[in-house]
Amino acid sequence: MAETIFALASGAGVSGVAVIRVSGPGAGPTIETLTGRPPPPPRQAALRRFRDGSGHEIDHGLVLWFPGPRSFTGEDVAEFHVHGGRAVIQGLLAVLGRLEGLAPAGPGAFTRRAFDHGRLDLTQVEGLADLVAAETEAQRIQALRQLDGDLGRLVEDWRQALILCLAHLEAAIDFVEDDLPDDLIVGLRPRIEALVAVISAHLSQARSGERLREGLTVVILGAPNAGKSSLLNRLAGREAAIVSSIAGTTRDPIEVHLDLDGLPVVLVDTAGLREATDEIEREGIRRAEARAARADLKLLLIDATAPETHAAMAARFDSDTLLIINKADLAPATVADGLAVSAATGQGVDALVDAIAAKARERLTPGAAALTRERHGVALRDCLDALRRFLAAPEDPELASEDLRLAARALGRITGRVDVEDVLDVIFSEFCIGK
Ligand code: GDP
Repeated sequence: MAETIFALASGAGVSGVAVIRVSGPGAGPTIETLTGRPPPPPRQAALRRFRDGSGHEIDHGLVLWFPGPRSFTGEDVAEFHVHGGRAVIQGLLAVLGRLEGLAPAGPGAFTRRAFDHGRLDLTQVEGLADLVAAETEAQRIQALRQLDGDLGRLVEDWRQALILCLAHLEAAIDFVEDDLPDDLIVGLRPRIEALVAVISAHLSQARSGERLREGLTVVILGAPNAGKSSLLNRLAGREAAIVSSIAGTTRDPIEVHLDLDGLPVVLVDTAGLREATDEIEREGIRRAEARAARADLKLLLIDATAPETHAAMAARFDSDTLLIINKADLAPATVADGLAVSAATGQGVDALVDAIAAKARERLTPGAAALTRERHGVALRDCLDALRRFLAAPEDPELASEDLRLAARALGRITGRVDVEDVLDVIFSEFCIGK
């Protein structure tokens, strides 16, 4: 029999209410042990007193009973909503830990059980992780869609279409004694061609889902003293826009997360990339460098008072670059097409933020059934490779059906229907205890 697991499901720290979740066959008996009464009617909150083994009251609060399989994990689940103080939470967790057959849940264990019981497919598991991590409106929308199963359904439809083709082919191979009629494989071609077309089209928007998940990466480039750090601080200082900043220890932030109209933008400070003084900071810099290397947008900063640096900088200009003339408070802008700003006075900074937001809108609009992980794109490319082999191959039915099988298996990896043991650990490591 499966072990019964328990954990604090709400965030760590003091709060008004804390939720402790129990999942497994021992969930119902746990309610009886703690409250001295049978579980309340399913999915209805009931007020109860919770007592330890010697009858001492720990707290009173709400208990909810979700008999399996209609629960988050698919197993019997109990939820205890208690006061969110440390002693209450510790007291209750200690009582649960002493109960026979109960064990503390590891990171992501509840979600893992939901996946194992078919309550969520792998894309929904990822959607849930993204929803918990979402910092902006657009990220929330994309994550919620994935949790609702948009991507999983689309991929599963494609897989079912492939399985149908495969079934026709295999039935024919089994029933026809001699050579298969050529027209069988020929007859499947239009359906496979149509699938190749829709899957390739979907793949072409692949990066945007991942971008929205991670944020549009914007780096600030420019000669030393052009004012990169000053501009970053000026942007980060706009309190309304800032979500969080990852500090390079006590010095300037290396990454600043901005929320521009609900769109996530990560500003990477290349000025902060110059020197590292300790290990933690070096790691921060390593990450910032990796992000900068695949920046979506560059802000090329030119110092209005140092025209001699312009020519060298102009060489780095491309279509993903916004040209910024800084220190507009000291000298008139001498470069056409540049946005004049002053990191010192804040002049022009609103227009700059608007320009960044416009770029973000262009790139990050959440699409239907967006591909939000690299592995989604990899699987679709594997699927396409197999389908193209099918289309290119001479009409050998054994090879043809093997190609269709491989294509279907690649799709099955996205939703977790087939051999995904290797990716499960990676995916569930995104969760923390209680999820
Ligand atoms: P970085 O090396 O590109 O990061 O440049 P800093 O941000 O460290 O700025 C270099 C110097 O220029 C500092 O003394 C700043 O105070 C100054 N500075 C930066 N932006 C402006 C600006 O818009 N106007 C004025 N007057 N000074 C600025």
